[in-house]
Amino acid sequence: MEVGSKNSLWQATAINLDANPTLEDDIQTDVVIVGAGFTGLSAALQLSENNTNVVVLDKYEVGFGASGRNGGQVNPMLPYNSPEKIQQYIGNHFFENLCQASLNSADALFELIAKHKIDCQARQKGWLRVDHCEKARKTSLHNAEGWIKYGAKMSPVDGAEVERLSGSKLYKSGILAERGGAVQPLSLARGEAKAAMDLGAKIFANSPVTALKRKGDKWIVKTPKGKVTANWVILATNGYTDDLLDGLAKTVMPLVSIQIATEPLNDDQIGKILPEGQTISDTRRSIMYSRREPDNRMVFGGHGTLTSKGFVGFDHMIEDATRIFPSLKNVDWKFQWGGKLAITENRLPHYHEAKPNLIVGLGFNGRGVAMSHVMGKCLADRILDVPVKQLPFPSSKMKGIPFWGIQMMGTGPVVGVMKILDKWESRSA
Ligand SMILES: Cc1cc2nc3c(=O)[nH]c(=O)nc-3n(C[C@H](O)[C@H](O)[C@H](O)COP(=O)(O)OP(=O)(O)OC[C@H]3O[C@@H](n4cnc5c(N)ncnc54)[C@H](O)[C@@H]3O)c2cc1C
Repeated sequence: MEVGSKNSLWQATAINLDANPTLEDDIQTDVVIVGAGFTGLSAALQLSENNTNVVVLDKYEVGFGASGRNGGQVNPMLPYNSPEKIQQYIGNHFFENLCQASLNSADALFELIAKHKIDCQARQKGWLRVDHCEKARKTSLHNAEGWIKYGAKMSPVDGAEVERLSGSKLYKSGILAERGGAVQPLSLARGEAKAAMDLGAKIFANSPVTALKRKGDKWIVKTPKGKVTANWVILATNGYTDDLLDGLAKTVMPLVSIQIATEPLNDDQIGKILPEGQTISDTRRSIMYSRREPDNRMVFGGHGTLTSKGFVGFDHMIEDATRIFPSLKNVDWKFQWGGKLAITENRLPHYHEAKPNLIVGLGFNGRGVAMSHVMGKCLADRILDVPVKQLPFPSSKMKGIPFWGIQMMGTGPVVGVMKILDKWESRSA
């Protein structure tokens, strides 16, 4: 049983969406999408806008996965990689396509939100990525210079300016990406679902897909109480991928991220934190990311662990938040929740043409708010007969991560080691 996110700020403040029904019939459609997160919903929206019949099935409900639980940071670039590394991985042609799609991804998402009038507290005030040590500063600068050559709107900031923008004395340098921003993620997912349904898409909740069968030139997609016959299948299950498609789960490493949030704070508590409303994250291996809400709530996130009792790691996170922003000492972190994201071996999202008319998009490496929408559009475009050469991602072969089982057992200890290394580097800086 997956753990819900009841104690999440987003659950408490999201726009309403009437409960979607459970699939209890045999129905026919053009495209069936498994997963009602950003990837599946944005594909559904794009297909519905192009007069294609779509059915979306989720094991639980719209936004149940990472899309309804994330930090809501709209980050306009791929993480971790420099342009030259991405070029190496996917070749020149797709590099050009992915580069443009990735750099435009934040603008494209804010345009989609405006077009469909989605009430999700969208704001495009920039993203500040701060360095935790000198080595990280050099890498960030190198990567930023590389991306700027391809049109990224990013500028290095340091000294008093980074302290003023972050509101923390701990950071001495960083990169400001002005196209970044923030959304209320669960409201965005629900808003996209509504927009797609208004255009004719059918969405079913509590309808886990248990089997995929090819019959002639159709797919039969089974749930416990119904089935869908379709020409195309899209799998959009990211960190919640199960055994539905042989081998898919082992192409990604699910990683747990947890978050904490306050009620609106008073002036003394909020102090000088993020005065201009940028979102912030840092360069640590065990990343911290945070945002100040327009009503002066603070939201803070990072790595955590999922045990049989639920998400853990909140006490360490509160210590971390107070160390970075001392005015937050003694505030009540009323909301505490977590979710699963998906890491790929090359740290790029993966697009697979896995079987005839069955396509998959996943692996956003914790930067999926904007990029899952790039993927959703890519999946829809493929079905709408856009030439594959024009897609942002090349189709790659599904390849399991080596020693996946052992690595899965080790994600907890690995995060522990990452934290120790981060601390050591920050201190020696
Ligand atoms: C805590 C957290 C914080 C994050 N913060 C950020 C951030 O600030 N910025 C950023 O860019 N990214 C962030 N991310 C990453 C981002 O949220 C994800 O990359 C993105 O939401 C992935 O969307 P998705 O639609 O591909 O997958 P998900 O939203 O995870 O959706 C997958 C869906 O598939 C469904 N499903 C799985 N199996 C089946 C089945 N057999 N049948 C039916 N349904 C099924 C699940 O129920 C789920 O609803 C964060 C992630 C987490 C967990």
